[in-house]
Amino acid sequence: MPTAFRLGLTGGIGSGKSTVARLLVAHGATLVDADAIARAATAPGGAAMPAIAECFGPTLVTRDGALDRDAMRTLAFNDPAVRHRLEAIVHPLVGAEALRQAEAAQTPCVVFDIPLLAESRYWRQRLHRILVVDCTPDTQIRRVMARNGLAREVVEKIIQAQASRLTRLACADAVLWNDADTPQPLQTEVAGLATSFGLSLLPE
Ligand code: ADP
Repeated sequence: MPTAFRLGLTGGIGSGKSTVARLLVAHGATLVDADAIARAATAPGGAAMPAIAECFGPTLVTRDGALDRDAMRTLAFNDPAVRHRLEAIVHPLVGAEALRQAEAAQTPCVVFDIPLLAESRYWRQRLHRILVVDCTPDTQIRRVMARNGLAREVVEKIIQAQASRLTRLACADAVLWNDADTPQPLQTEVAGLATSFGLSLLPE
């Protein structure tokens, strides 16, 4: 099979990014999920764990050999360099594994769900197109409050910590507007896009 079309997918929390990823998979795309790869790399026996143990000693490793996320957060809160050192270990492994999964894909389109895609030159250079899922901040807040049972202020803080809407839109080759309270318009839009990414429409 020729090299698959590599589509980067991004969007703020609650924009509907996961929903779009699921729809594209239903249309026959392969999903490469960088978060899932990073979690596996830092789970017991994960590919990043020997380097993490060597770099930080036992401080950041749980008894069963996983990354101790609470300890990492505490340490990184006091010393931002910790996060950079950890990322310097984990990111290259995630990048290599994501590309390996993409190479192994037997589908015409591979969807890369990459957090911080908008900020990442590395990924933008390796993807054919970037699709941004967008909606108003009010819609984001409403959806995440309902989905995660979080207070409005908490969701607002998460949104503020993410890339701005403008940063994301600036790197978009295509934008999926997903502000409705029903999934139908999104499904129709994704079905249209799926065809242009070489995917076939699945029967309902
Ligand atoms: P993200 O991955 O961007 O955080 P999700 O795809 O999980 O967002 O969507 C957030 C929540 O909003 C989920 O509960 C999802 O089912 C819901 N949602 C997303 N888009 C729509 C839509 N068009 N209509 C109704 N609910 C939606």
